[in-house]
Amino acid sequence: MMSEDVIEKMDKLKVKWVNLQFTDVVGILRQVTVSRRLLTHEAFENGLGKLDGSSVKGFTGIEESDLNLKPIKETFAVIPWLDGVGRMICAVYRGDARFPKDPRYAAEALDSMLKSNDLKAFVSPELEFFIFDKVTVAIDTWKQIVEISSSEGHWISSAPFNALKEGYYVTYPNDKFEKLKKSIGETLENFFGIAVEVFHHEVAGASQHEINFRGGDVTSTADAVQTVKYVVKAIASKEGYIATFMPKPLYGDNGSGMHVHVSIWRNGENLFYDPSDEYAGLSQYARYFIGGLIEHGRALSAIVSPTVNSYKRLVPGYEAPVYLVWSKANRSAAIRVPAYHKFNNNSKRIEYRPPDPTANPYLALSAIVLAGLDGVKKKIDPGDPVDENVYKMDPRRRKELGIKELPRSLDEALDELETDNEWLKPIYSNELIETYIELKREEVRKLQSYPSPVEIFTYINY
Ligand code: GLU
Ligand code: MG
Ligand code: MG
Repeated sequence: MMSEDVIEKMDKLKVKWVNLQFTDVVGILRQVTVSRRLLTHEAFENGLGKLDGSSVKGFTGIEESDLNLKPIKETFAVIPWLDGVGRMICAVYRGDARFPKDPRYAAEALDSMLKSNDLKAFVSPELEFFIFDKVTVAIDTWKQIVEISSSEGHWISSAPFNALKEGYYVTYPNDKFEKLKKSIGETLENFFGIAVEVFHHEVAGASQHEINFRGGDVTSTADAVQTVKYVVKAIASKEGYIATFMPKPLYGDNGSGMHVHVSIWRNGENLFYDPSDEYAGLSQYARYFIGGLIEHGRALSAIVSPTVNSYKRLVPGYEAPVYLVWSKANRSAAIRVPAYHKFNNNSKRIEYRPPDPTANPYLALSAIVLAGLDGVKKKIDPGDPVDENVYKMDPRRRKELGIKELPRSLDEALDELETDNEWLKPIYSNELIETYIELKREEVRKLQSYPSPVEIFTYINY
Protein backbone atom coordinates (compact mmCIF):
# COMPACT_ATOMS: atom_id res chain seq x y z
CA MET A 1 0.00 0.00 0.00
CA MET A 2 1.30 3.47 -0.88
CA SER A 3 0.79 6.67 1.05
CA GLU A 4 -1.09 8.15 -1.91
CA ASP A 5 -3.66 5.36 -1.59
CA VAL A 6 -4.41 6.37 2.01
CA ILE A 7 -4.36 10.08 1.19
CA GLU A 8 -6.77 9.52 -1.69
CA LYS A 9 -9.02 7.41 0.50
CA MET A 10 -9.08 10.04 3.26
CA ASP A 11 -10.09 12.71 0.79
CA LYS A 12 -12.71 10.57 -0.88
CA LEU A 13 -14.25 9.72 2.47
CA LYS A 14 -14.03 13.34 3.66
CA VAL A 15 -11.81 12.51 6.61
CA LYS A 16 -10.79 15.69 8.41
CA TRP A 17 -9.12 14.26 11.51
CA VAL A 18 -7.08 11.18 12.19
CA ASN A 19 -6.58 9.44 15.50
CA LEU A 20 -2.98 8.26 15.58
CA GLN A 21 -3.11 5.22 17.86
CA PHE A 22 -0.35 3.38 19.70
CA THR A 23 -0.12 1.07 22.70
CA ASP A 24 1.72 1.80 25.94
CA VAL A 25 3.87 -0.72 27.79
CA VAL A 26 1.03 -2.13 29.90
CA GLY A 27 -1.20 -2.52 26.85
CA ILE A 28 -3.54 0.46 26.84
CA LEU A 29 -4.46 1.83 23.44
CA ARG A 30 -3.77 5.58 23.31
CA GLN A 31 -4.14 8.23 20.64
CA VAL A 32 -3.27 11.69 19.43
CA THR A 33 -5.72 13.33 17.05
CA VAL A 34 -4.19 15.26 14.17
CA SER A 35 -5.61 17.22 11.30
CA ARG A 36 -5.74 15.31 8.03
CA ARG A 37 -3.62 18.15 6.60
CA LEU A 38 -0.61 16.91 8.57
CA LEU A 39 -0.70 13.50 6.93
CA THR A 40 1.50 14.26 3.97
CA HIS A 41 3.73 11.82 2.09
CA GLU A 42 6.55 13.05 4.26
CA ALA A 43 4.61 12.23 7.44
CA PHE A 44 4.07 8.67 6.22
CA GLU A 45 7.78 8.48 5.45
CA ASN A 46 9.29 10.03 8.58
CA GLY A 47 6.50 10.01 11.13
CA LEU A 48 4.90 12.91 12.97
CA GLY A 49 6.59 14.42 16.00
CA LYS A 50 3.47 14.53 18.06
CA LEU A 51 4.18 12.35 21.06
CA ASP A 52 5.35 13.38 24.52
CA GLY A 53 6.77 10.06 25.72
CA SER A 54 7.05 11.23 29.33
CA SER A 55 3.29 11.18 29.67
CA VAL A 56 2.91 7.60 28.44
CA LYS A 57 3.19 4.79 30.99
CA GLY A 58 6.68 3.34 30.77
CA PHE A 59 7.89 5.26 27.72
CA THR A 60 10.44 8.00 28.57
CA GLY A 61 11.59 10.44 31.22
CA ILE A 62 10.85 14.15 30.71
CA GLU A 63 14.41 14.82 29.62
CA GLU A 64 14.16 12.72 26.43
CA SER A 65 10.49 12.80 25.75
CA ASP A 66 10.08 13.60 22.03
CA LEU A 67 8.84 10.65 20.04
CA ASN A 68 7.54 10.27 16.51
CA LEU A 69 4.50 8.38 15.35
CA LYS A 70 4.72 6.72 11.97
CA PRO A 71 1.29 5.66 10.71
CA ILE A 72 0.90 2.10 9.45
CA LYS A 73 -1.05 2.58 6.23
CA GLU A 74 -2.71 -0.84 6.28
CA THR A 75 -4.44 0.00 9.57
CA PHE A 76 -6.30 3.01 8.20
CA ALA A 77 -10.00 2.90 9.02
CA VAL A 78 -12.84 5.37 9.16
CA ILE A 79 -14.39 5.51 12.62
CA PRO A 80 -18.09 5.04 11.93
CA TRP A 81 -19.31 6.66 15.12
CA LEU A 82 -17.26 9.85 14.58
CA ASP A 83 -18.17 11.83 11.53
CA GLY A 84 -15.10 12.65 9.42
CA VAL A 85 -12.57 10.92 11.70
CA GLY A 86 -10.20 8.12 10.72
CA ARG A 87 -7.63 6.19 12.65
CA MET A 88 -4.27 4.58 12.01
CA ILE A 89 -2.16 2.45 14.30
CA CYS A 90 1.39 3.81 14.49
CA ALA A 91 4.93 2.63 15.01
CA VAL A 92 6.79 4.70 17.61
CA TYR A 93 10.20 6.15 16.72
CA ARG A 94 12.84 8.06 18.69
CA GLY A 95 14.59 10.12 16.06
CA ASP A 96 15.05 7.80 13.11
CA ALA A 97 15.24 4.60 15.15
CA ARG A 98 12.45 2.41 16.44
CA PHE A 99 11.71 3.21 20.07
CA PRO A 100 12.77 0.05 21.96
CA LYS A 101 9.88 0.22 24.41
CA ASP A 102 7.16 0.41 21.77
CA PRO A 103 5.48 -2.96 22.36
CA ARG A 104 4.46 -3.18 18.72
CA TYR A 105 8.15 -3.22 17.85
CA ALA A 106 8.57 -6.51 19.73
CA ALA A 107 5.79 -8.06 17.66
CA GLU A 108 7.21 -6.70 14.39
CA ALA A 109 10.73 -7.84 15.24
CA LEU A 110 9.48 -11.34 15.98
CA ASP A 111 7.53 -11.57 12.71
CA SER A 112 10.61 -10.47 10.76
CA MET A 113 12.92 -12.82 12.64
CA LEU A 114 10.57 -15.68 11.77
CA LYS A 115 10.42 -14.53 8.17
CA SER A 116 14.19 -14.49 7.84
CA ASN A 117 14.11 -18.16 8.92
CA ASP A 118 11.34 -18.96 6.41
CA LEU A 119 8.91 -19.37 9.29
CA LYS A 120 5.57 -17.80 10.05
CA ALA A 121 3.52 -17.88 13.24
CA PHE A 122 -0.24 -18.14 12.91
CA VAL A 123 -1.90 -16.88 16.09
CA SER A 124 -5.55 -16.47 16.79
CA PRO A 125 -6.98 -15.21 20.09
CA GLU A 126 -10.46 -15.75 21.52
CA LEU A 127 -11.62 -12.70 23.41
CA GLU A 128 -14.07 -13.04 26.28
CA PHE A 129 -15.72 -10.06 27.94
CA PHE A 130 -18.70 -9.00 30.03
CA ILE A 131 -21.33 -6.42 29.20
CA PHE A 132 -22.82 -4.66 32.21
CA ASP A 133 -25.53 -2.08 32.34
CA LYS A 134 -24.30 -0.51 35.51
CA VAL A 135 -20.97 -0.39 37.27
CA THR A 136 -20.53 1.87 40.25
CA VAL A 137 -17.19 2.07 41.92
CA ALA A 138 -16.49 4.68 44.56
CA ILE A 139 -13.24 4.65 46.42
CA ASP A 140 -12.93 6.66 49.55
CA THR A 141 -11.27 5.23 52.66
CA TRP A 142 -14.46 4.45 54.49
CA LYS A 143 -16.91 4.33 51.64
CA GLN A 144 -15.90 1.78 49.10
CA ILE A 145 -18.87 0.92 47.02
CA VAL A 146 -18.78 -1.62 44.24
CA GLU A 147 -22.04 -2.38 42.54
CA ILE A 148 -22.15 -4.32 39.33
CA SER A 149 -25.25 -5.35 37.49
CA SER A 150 -25.63 -7.21 34.27
CA SER A 151 -28.35 -6.60 31.79
CA GLU A 152 -29.90 -9.89 32.71
CA GLY A 153 -30.69 -8.26 36.01
CA HIS A 154 -28.38 -10.20 38.30
CA TRP A 155 -27.25 -8.11 41.19
CA ILE A 156 -23.89 -9.40 42.17
CA SER A 157 -24.10 -8.23 45.73
CA SER A 158 -27.01 -10.57 46.32
CA ALA A 159 -26.17 -13.40 43.92
CA PRO A 160 -25.57 -16.71 45.62
CA PHE A 161 -22.29 -18.46 44.92
CA ASN A 162 -22.26 -20.19 41.57
CA ALA A 163 -25.89 -19.42 40.83
CA LEU A 164 -25.01 -17.54 37.70
CA LYS A 165 -23.30 -20.19 35.60
CA GLU A 166 -26.14 -20.57 33.17
CA GLY A 167 -25.03 -18.64 30.18
CA TYR A 168 -23.29 -20.92 27.74
CA TYR A 169 -24.65 -20.56 24.21
CA VAL A 170 -28.01 -19.17 25.37
CA THR A 171 -30.38 -17.60 22.88
CA TYR A 172 -32.70 -14.60 23.08
CA PRO A 173 -34.16 -13.50 25.49
CA ASN A 174 -31.43 -14.79 27.79
CA ASP A 175 -28.89 -13.23 25.48
CA LYS A 176 -30.04 -9.65 25.19
CA PHE A 177 -27.11 -8.57 23.12
CA GLU A 178 -27.63 -10.24 19.76
CA LYS A 179 -28.20 -6.89 18.08
CA LEU A 180 -25.29 -5.24 19.81
CA LYS A 181 -22.99 -8.09 18.81
CA LYS A 182 -24.21 -7.93 15.21
CA SER A 183 -23.42 -4.25 15.17
CA ILE A 184 -19.95 -4.90 16.63
CA GLY A 185 -19.32 -7.63 14.04
CA GLU A 186 -20.44 -5.49 11.12
CA THR A 187 -18.42 -2.50 12.28
CA LEU A 188 -15.29 -4.63 12.60
CA GLU A 189 -15.79 -6.18 9.19
CA ASN A 190 -16.97 -3.21 7.19
CA PHE A 191 -14.87 -0.44 8.67
CA PHE A 192 -11.82 -2.07 10.26
CA GLY A 193 -11.32 -5.01 7.90
CA ILE A 194 -11.39 -7.62 10.66
CA ALA A 195 -12.90 -10.94 9.65
CA VAL A 196 -15.16 -11.84 12.57
CA GLU A 197 -15.87 -15.56 12.67
CA VAL A 198 -17.82 -16.42 15.82
CA PHE A 199 -19.88 -14.72 18.52
CA HIS A 200 -21.49 -16.51 21.42
CA HIS A 201 -22.69 -16.08 24.94
CA GLU A 202 -20.13 -17.50 27.38
CA VAL A 203 -20.55 -19.63 30.49
CA ALA A 204 -21.06 -16.90 33.08
CA GLY A 205 -24.74 -16.18 33.53
CA ALA A 206 -24.18 -12.50 33.94
CA SER A 207 -23.80 -11.46 30.33
CA GLN A 208 -20.43 -12.85 29.36
CA HIS A 209 -19.63 -13.03 25.66
CA GLU A 210 -16.94 -14.21 23.31
CA ILE A 211 -15.78 -12.99 19.94
CA ASN A 212 -13.42 -14.84 17.58
CA PHE A 213 -11.90 -13.42 14.45
CA ARG A 214 -9.47 -14.69 11.83
CA GLY A 215 -5.89 -14.70 13.11
CA GLY A 216 -2.65 -14.08 11.27
CA ASP A 217 0.91 -13.10 12.06
CA VAL A 218 1.77 -11.73 15.50
CA THR A 219 1.75 -8.01 14.65
CA SER A 220 -1.44 -7.81 12.63
CA THR A 221 -3.26 -10.04 15.12
CA ALA A 222 -2.16 -7.87 18.05
CA ASP A 223 -3.37 -4.82 16.08
CA ALA A 224 -6.67 -6.64 15.63
CA VAL A 225 -6.98 -7.39 19.37
CA GLN A 226 -6.52 -3.70 20.16
CA THR A 227 -9.06 -2.78 17.50
CA VAL A 228 -11.64 -5.33 18.64
CA LYS A 229 -11.40 -4.16 22.27
CA TYR A 230 -11.68 -0.55 21.13
CA VAL A 231 -14.76 -1.23 18.99
CA VAL A 232 -16.51 -3.49 21.54
CA LYS A 233 -16.08 -0.90 24.30
CA ALA A 234 -17.08 2.00 22.08
CA ILE A 235 -20.24 0.41 20.67
CA ALA A 236 -21.35 -0.88 24.06
CA SER A 237 -20.79 2.56 25.54
CA LYS A 238 -22.78 4.28 22.79
CA GLU A 239 -25.71 2.02 23.68
CA GLY A 240 -25.37 2.86 27.37
CA TYR A 241 -23.53 -0.31 28.44
CA ILE A 242 -20.10 -1.02 29.81
CA ALA A 243 -18.08 -3.74 28.13
CA THR A 244 -15.22 -4.94 30.26
CA PHE A 245 -12.25 -7.16 29.49
CA MET A 246 -11.12 -7.42 33.09
CA PRO A 247 -10.48 -11.11 33.79
CA LYS A 248 -12.58 -11.62 36.89
CA PRO A 249 -15.21 -8.98 37.54
CA LEU A 250 -17.57 -11.29 39.42
CA TYR A 251 -17.07 -13.41 42.48
CA GLY A 252 -18.28 -16.97 42.08
CA ASP A 253 -18.64 -16.99 38.31
CA ASN A 254 -16.39 -17.66 35.32
CA GLY A 255 -13.82 -15.09 34.36
CA SER A 256 -12.77 -13.85 30.93
CA GLY A 257 -9.80 -15.37 29.18
CA MET A 258 -7.99 -14.67 25.95
CA HIS A 259 -7.02 -18.17 24.83
CA VAL A 260 -4.47 -18.05 22.05
CA HIS A 261 -4.32 -20.65 19.27
CA VAL A 262 -0.86 -21.03 17.75
CA SER A 263 0.77 -22.91 14.91
CA ILE A 264 4.12 -22.40 13.18
CA TRP A 265 4.45 -22.73 9.42
CA ARG A 266 7.29 -23.14 6.95
CA ASN A 267 6.55 -22.45 3.27
CA GLY A 268 2.89 -23.33 3.58
CA GLU A 269 3.57 -26.42 5.69
CA ASN A 270 2.16 -26.61 9.20
CA LEU A 271 5.07 -27.70 11.40
CA PHE A 272 2.68 -28.71 14.18
CA TYR A 273 1.02 -31.42 12.11
CA ASP A 274 2.09 -35.03 11.90
CA PRO A 275 -0.55 -37.51 10.76
CA SER A 276 1.50 -40.43 12.09
CA ASP A 277 0.97 -39.29 15.69
CA GLU A 278 -1.83 -41.44 17.10
CA TYR A 279 -2.52 -39.25 20.11
CA ALA A 280 -3.37 -35.95 18.49
CA GLY A 281 -1.82 -35.70 15.01
CA LEU A 282 0.84 -33.52 16.61
CA SER A 283 4.47 -33.27 15.50
CA GLN A 284 7.61 -33.51 17.62
CA TYR A 285 8.20 -29.83 16.76
CA ALA A 286 4.86 -28.95 18.39
CA ARG A 287 5.70 -31.11 21.41
CA TYR A 288 8.96 -29.20 21.94
CA PHE A 289 7.03 -25.95 21.49
CA ILE A 290 4.69 -27.09 24.27
CA GLY A 291 7.78 -27.99 26.32
CA GLY A 292 8.92 -24.36 26.06
CA LEU A 293 5.52 -23.08 27.16
CA ILE A 294 5.60 -25.35 30.21
CA GLU A 295 9.23 -24.54 31.01
CA HIS A 296 8.67 -20.75 30.86
CA GLY A 297 4.97 -20.75 31.71
CA ARG A 298 5.44 -19.30 35.19
CA ALA A 299 7.49 -16.34 33.93
CA LEU A 300 5.27 -15.95 30.87
CA SER A 301 2.37 -15.59 33.26
CA ALA A 302 3.55 -12.07 34.18
CA ILE A 303 3.00 -11.07 30.54
CA VAL A 304 -0.10 -13.04 29.59
CA SER A 305 -1.94 -12.73 32.94
CA PRO A 306 -0.61 -9.30 33.75
CA THR A 307 -2.94 -7.76 36.31
CA VAL A 308 -3.66 -8.23 40.00
CA ASN A 309 -7.16 -9.26 38.94
CA SER A 310 -5.81 -11.92 36.52
CA TYR A 311 -5.00 -14.26 39.41
CA LYS A 312 -8.56 -14.23 40.67
CA ARG A 313 -9.46 -15.91 37.38
CA LEU A 314 -6.75 -18.58 37.52
CA VAL A 315 -8.45 -20.72 40.16
CA PRO A 316 -10.00 -24.19 39.95
CA GLY A 317 -13.56 -24.70 38.85
CA TYR A 318 -14.10 -22.07 36.18
CA GLU A 319 -12.45 -23.58 33.08
CA ALA A 320 -9.45 -21.34 33.60
CA PRO A 321 -6.11 -23.11 33.88
CA VAL A 322 -4.22 -23.57 37.13
CA TYR A 323 -1.68 -26.24 36.17
CA LEU A 324 0.99 -26.15 33.48
CA VAL A 325 0.12 -29.38 31.74
CA TRP A 326 -0.91 -30.20 28.21
CA SER A 327 -3.70 -32.35 26.96
CA LYS A 328 -6.11 -33.08 24.17
CA ALA A 329 -9.43 -31.29 24.61
CA ASN A 330 -9.04 -31.02 28.44
CA ARG A 331 -10.19 -27.57 29.56
CA SER A 332 -8.49 -27.80 32.96
CA ALA A 333 -5.05 -27.90 31.28
CA ALA A 334 -3.03 -24.80 30.38
CA ILE A 335 -2.32 -26.17 26.92
CA ARG A 336 -4.99 -27.89 24.94
CA VAL A 337 -4.69 -29.55 21.56
CA PRO A 338 -8.11 -28.93 20.04
CA ALA A 339 -9.45 -32.27 18.93
CA TYR A 340 -12.30 -31.30 16.63
CA HIS A 341 -10.40 -32.62 13.63
CA LYS A 342 -7.55 -34.87 14.48
CA PHE A 343 -6.00 -35.16 11.07
CA ASN A 344 -6.11 -31.83 9.40
CA ASN A 345 -2.98 -30.05 8.33
CA ASN A 346 -4.58 -26.61 8.27
CA SER A 347 -6.24 -26.65 11.62
CA LYS A 348 -3.57 -28.46 13.69
CA ARG A 349 -2.64 -26.06 16.47
CA ILE A 350 -2.29 -25.73 20.18
CA GLU A 351 -4.44 -23.54 22.41
CA TYR A 352 -2.64 -21.66 25.19
CA ARG A 353 -5.29 -20.93 27.83
CA PRO A 354 -3.65 -18.86 30.61
CA PRO A 355 -3.80 -15.45 28.84
CA ASP A 356 -6.54 -12.98 29.59
CA PRO A 357 -7.63 -9.90 27.67
CA THR A 358 -5.87 -7.41 29.96
CA ALA A 359 -2.60 -8.61 28.42
CA ASN A 360 -0.76 -6.28 26.09
CA PRO A 361 -1.39 -8.28 22.89
CA TYR A 362 1.89 -7.25 21.23
CA LEU A 363 3.83 -8.58 24.20
CA ALA A 364 1.59 -11.54 25.01
CA LEU A 365 1.46 -12.98 21.49
CA SER A 366 5.19 -12.47 20.88
CA ALA A 367 6.14 -13.91 24.28
CA ILE A 368 4.02 -17.03 23.75
CA VAL A 369 5.76 -17.71 20.44
CA LEU A 370 9.19 -16.98 21.92
CA ALA A 371 8.62 -19.36 24.86
CA GLY A 372 7.53 -22.09 22.44
CA LEU A 373 10.46 -21.52 20.08
CA ASP A 374 12.88 -21.73 22.99
CA GLY A 375 11.41 -25.15 23.68
CA VAL A 376 12.00 -26.12 20.03
CA LYS A 377 15.58 -24.83 20.14
CA LYS A 378 16.39 -26.67 23.36
CA LYS A 379 14.25 -29.73 22.55
CA ILE A 380 12.34 -29.43 25.81
CA ASP A 381 10.22 -32.48 26.56
CA PRO A 382 6.71 -31.42 27.63
CA GLY A 383 6.10 -34.65 29.55
CA ASP A 384 3.10 -36.86 28.98
CA PRO A 385 -0.29 -35.33 28.28
CA VAL A 386 -2.70 -35.33 31.21
CA ASP A 387 -6.20 -36.22 30.09
CA GLU A 388 -7.93 -36.23 33.46
CA ASN A 389 -9.45 -33.27 35.25
CA VAL A 390 -6.37 -31.76 36.91
CA TYR A 391 -8.45 -29.68 39.33
CA LYS A 392 -9.68 -32.91 40.86
CA MET A 393 -6.40 -34.80 40.90
CA ASP A 394 -4.97 -35.87 44.23
CA PRO A 395 -2.23 -33.34 45.18
CA ARG A 396 0.24 -36.19 45.85
CA ARG A 397 -0.31 -37.55 42.37
CA ARG A 398 0.19 -34.08 40.91
CA LYS A 399 3.48 -33.89 42.74
CA GLU A 400 4.55 -37.35 41.57
CA LEU A 401 3.86 -36.34 37.98
CA GLY A 402 5.91 -33.16 38.52
CA ILE A 403 2.99 -30.94 37.50
CA LYS A 404 3.83 -27.24 37.83
CA GLU A 405 1.29 -24.66 38.96
CA LEU A 406 0.79 -21.23 37.44
CA PRO A 407 1.76 -18.43 39.86
CA ARG A 408 -0.93 -17.47 42.34
CA SER A 409 -0.37 -13.74 42.15
CA LEU A 410 1.11 -11.11 39.87
CA ASP A 411 3.92 -10.58 42.36
CA GLU A 412 4.86 -14.26 42.21
CA ALA A 413 4.74 -14.16 38.40
CA LEU A 414 7.01 -11.10 38.37
CA ASP A 415 9.51 -12.91 40.61
CA GLU A 416 9.64 -15.61 37.95
CA LEU A 417 9.98 -13.18 35.06
CA GLU A 418 12.83 -11.43 36.86
CA THR A 419 14.88 -14.63 36.93
CA ASP A 420 13.65 -16.36 33.77
CA ASN A 421 13.71 -13.97 30.81
CA GLU A 422 16.62 -15.01 28.58
CA TRP A 423 14.16 -16.62 26.19
CA LEU A 424 12.65 -13.17 25.50
CA LYS A 425 16.02 -11.61 24.74
CA PRO A 426 16.31 -12.50 21.06
CA ILE A 427 13.56 -9.90 20.59
CA TYR A 428 12.86 -7.92 23.76
CA SER A 429 15.25 -5.16 24.81
CA ASN A 430 16.47 -5.12 28.43
CA GLU A 431 14.85 -1.71 28.77
CA LEU A 432 11.47 -3.12 27.82
CA ILE A 433 11.70 -6.03 30.25
CA GLU A 434 12.93 -3.85 33.12
CA THR A 435 10.30 -1.17 32.56
CA TYR A 436 7.57 -3.75 32.29
CA ILE A 437 8.53 -5.37 35.61
CA GLU A 438 8.88 -1.98 37.30
CA LEU A 439 5.44 -0.79 36.16
CA LYS A 440 3.81 -4.03 37.20
CA ARG A 441 5.47 -4.02 40.64
CA GLU A 442 4.10 -0.52 41.10
CA GLU A 443 0.63 -1.72 40.11
CA VAL A 444 0.81 -4.56 42.66
CA ARG A 445 1.95 -2.18 45.43
CA LYS A 446 -0.83 0.27 44.68
CA LEU A 447 -3.62 -2.28 44.53
CA GLN A 448 -2.41 -4.21 47.54
CA SER A 449 -2.43 -1.14 49.72
CA TYR A 450 -6.16 -0.53 49.28
CA PRO A 451 -8.40 -2.40 51.71
CA SER A 452 -11.05 -3.95 49.46
CA PRO A 453 -14.78 -3.87 50.26
CA VAL A 454 -14.75 -7.58 51.01
CA GLU A 455 -11.78 -7.21 53.36
CA ILE A 456 -13.65 -4.56 55.28
CA PHE A 457 -16.72 -6.77 55.41
CA THR A 458 -14.64 -9.71 56.66
CA TYR A 459 -12.45 -7.98 59.22
CA ILE A 460 -14.43 -5.01 60.48
CA ASN A 461 -15.67 -6.83 63.57
CA TYR A 462 -12.56 -8.87 64.40
N1 GLU B 1 -13.91 -18.40 30.57
C1 GLU B 1 -12.91 -19.44 30.65
C2 GLU B 1 -11.56 -18.83 31.02
O1 GLU B 1 -11.52 -18.04 31.89
C3 GLU B 1 -12.82 -20.24 29.39
C4 GLU B 1 -14.07 -20.89 28.87
C5 GLU B 1 -13.83 -21.59 27.53
O2 GLU B 1 -13.28 -22.70 27.53
O3 GLU B 1 -14.10 -20.98 26.50
O4 GLU B 1 -10.54 -19.12 30.46
MG1 MG C 1 -14.59 -19.23 25.61
MG1 MG D 1 -10.89 -21.55 23.93
